[in-house]
Amino acid sequence: MTRILFVTSEVHPLIKTGGLADVSASLPAALQALGEDVRLLIPGYNQVLDALKTKKVVATFSVFTGQAPVRLLSAKMPNTNVPVYVLDAPEYFCRVAGPYQYQLGGDWPDNPMRFGMLSKVAAMLGSADSPIAWQAELVHCNDWQTGLTPVYLQLMSAPRAKSVMTVHNIAFQGNFDRDWIKALEIPAAHFNMHGVEFHGNLSFLKSGLQYADRIVTVSPTYAHEIQATEMGYGMQGLLTARKADVSGILNGIDEDEWDASTDKHLEVRYDVSDLAQKTQGKLALQKRLGLEVNEHAPLLGVVSRLTYQKGLDLLLECLPTLLDSGAQLAVLGSGDAEFERRYLQLAQRYSGRVSVTIGFNEALSHQIMAGTDIFLMPSRFEPCGLNQMYGMRYGTPPVVRRTGGLADSVINASLDGGTGFVFDDAGAQALQQTIKWAIECYRDENTFRRIQLNGMRKDVGWRHSAQLYLELYNSIL
Ligand code: ADP
Repeated sequence: MTRILFVTSEVHPLIKTGGLADVSASLPAALQALGEDVRLLIPGYNQVLDALKTKKVVATFSVFTGQAPVRLLSAKMPNTNVPVYVLDAPEYFCRVAGPYQYQLGGDWPDNPMRFGMLSKVAAMLGSADSPIAWQAELVHCNDWQTGLTPVYLQLMSAPRAKSVMTVHNIAFQGNFDRDWIKALEIPAAHFNMHGVEFHGNLSFLKSGLQYADRIVTVSPTYAHEIQATEMGYGMQGLLTARKADVSGILNGIDEDEWDASTDKHLEVRYDVSDLAQKTQGKLALQKRLGLEVNEHAPLLGVVSRLTYQKGLDLLLECLPTLLDSGAQLAVLGSGDAEFERRYLQLAQRYSGRVSVTIGFNEALSHQIMAGTDIFLMPSRFEPCGLNQMYGMRYGTPPVVRRTGGLADSVINASLDGGTGFVFDDAGAQALQQTIKWAIECYRDENTFRRIQLNGMRKDVGWRHSAQLYLELYNSIL
């Protein structure tokens, strides 16, 4: 049994802005099911403190010289019972608004200190300096918010844990002014291009990539893509140099949370043997969203951050033609103000055919996944992507671009065992043609049913991937 600390800045259902929260909930649970002693470390945001009813203080200590002491709380994750340590530092984490940004959308100016602290506490828990009786043998870091952990580990007393850095999205790097190294107590000797420096700044992500024992990305295709200029966001040189330590392990999904036969967010539940019920869910969704209630209108779904990465500008370009031919669209998301404005405008123009909900809404995301016919994910890049897997599992075949985890998880409908509709070119025309093809298939009941069933029967759970992570841990311990 290996002692693993999984450090992360978000975890479902306590706090979530994206796929990282889903992975942070389900991968540790899957590792626990394989018999490992895995524990989480997360920041004590107010949402987290409120959600965890039973918790106890297990340590009080200072993280940086001269700073007020913080507390480490111990609790269990709801649903899975995975042990979780909460870094309770109210001055830094108990704030109204999001984990990374304030209400108007700007980053918290002290994010380097907030996540530097998280990174350092993870390193302490993986060393002889651990403030509690438990010491991790392996620290699994996730994204830039935990990128300094492998650096701090080097500064701790032996024995020290090995570290794995998972990159969920290389576009988010946590690059900050170099002056932060003083407050974060990183020795100046580490500030160079072979250390924590990235073009004159302190880079949390680069630090993780440089110092971790192994680097993992969330799909094999993305692991290749980020070693090239176009998708490496400046890290391609480092990643190519460390090629032998870089691998891709496809994320799984939480099969209990995303099960259309038991989903607590759905009015109408269904499974492979009872797809007629899915149509009832569609009618309920149309009604709820103010769309024309029409069983035969192909209903397209989007649940996404509304950003350039997700290719949702391409969709805006080709929608009028598709809507004029009778399709409907249900969008749930938030993100760039300009995207939000354009989607809301579209909903106004196509009232009864387009519904746009701006915001984060867990229940509606499940209802859209279940109630739409075809799910759209035309991402320019997609490290893994979870929604396409939810779509397949809910009998809502996805339209995806052949990139990253989308390429690794969706089999094109033109092939045997097809589970979705795949296109290559990141352009509006290719997207439009592919959606048209998906709609043609939808109108041919037998073909569509076959694609739906292939997707619903596909194994998208965590068992296999958790096993691969375990093999990776064992290879470095
Ligand atoms: P990313 O992490 O890049 O945003 P993923 O597809 O990996 O994209 O994961 C996104 C996760 O966040 C999914 O669980 C998705 O259902 C959820 N999600 C995204 N936007 C919303 C929203 N507006 N409301 C509810 N859930 C959302």
